[in-house]
Amino acid sequence: MSMTKLPLNEIFESIQGEGSFTGAPSIFVRLQGCPVGCAWCDTKHSWYLKPEDKTSFETVVAKGGDGDSWCDVEIDHLVTHLLTYQARHIVLTGGEPCLYDLVELTTKLISSGFSCQIETSGTFEIKVAASCHVTVSPKVAMKGGFKILDSALVRANEIKHPVAMQRHIDELDALLARLTPEQIATKKVYLQPISQQNRATKLAIDTCIARNWWLSIQTHKYLDIQ
Ligand code: SF4
Repeated sequence: MSMTKLPLNEIFESIQGEGSFTGAPSIFVRLQGCPVGCAWCDTKHSWYLKPEDKTSFETVVAKGGDGDSWCDVEIDHLVTHLLTYQARHIVLTGGEPCLYDLVELTTKLISSGFSCQIETSGTFEIKVAASCHVTVSPKVAMKGGFKILDSALVRANEIKHPVAMQRHIDELDALLARLTPEQIATKKVYLQPISQQNRATKLAIDTCIARNWWLSIQTHKYLDIQ
């Protein structure tokens, strides 16, 4: 059953800096809540649904990024609000957006003329419209103890793996081994250096060339935009 309300942390309009849609003017819709527990997470403000941080939709929309505050928003109200922005590409992110059933939201966004992308850790079942672009950025062996689901790997349109050391390449190989060659052929596989570290970037470049994978750079961080 789809949810009629979703917990929202922030909305902002920017340029998509990563993966297949790099360069696309986008509206980022950050949902609140994530139990995955990545040590290097740069959106820790989206982890908890604390009652004392709950506020109004207007406050969340006005606050800009990085605050712990969140609100419940009706899906119809959210879609109507998103139509007031210029961009027509939506990025659903978190937090971990796949904590929630997003079929109704993504279906309504697409029927309203948006293209729709979701970014998920792959640790929860992905419930979105069939034409929603799914980016799985697998978070392996994180503190929360969640496993990467086969169903998430199969559904992914792109697999964008964060990398800082050889161990992360090995993790990606183990994940791809769970797919058939035919399934892998339907996806773009990216390495994305963690935190713009020089060593991570060099490892990612060398490995992408050797393996015919794609490089995803967090261009928004180099540009110092949100
Ligand atoms: S899955 Fe994403 S939001 Fe959750 S802890 Fe990891 S990086 Fe942060």
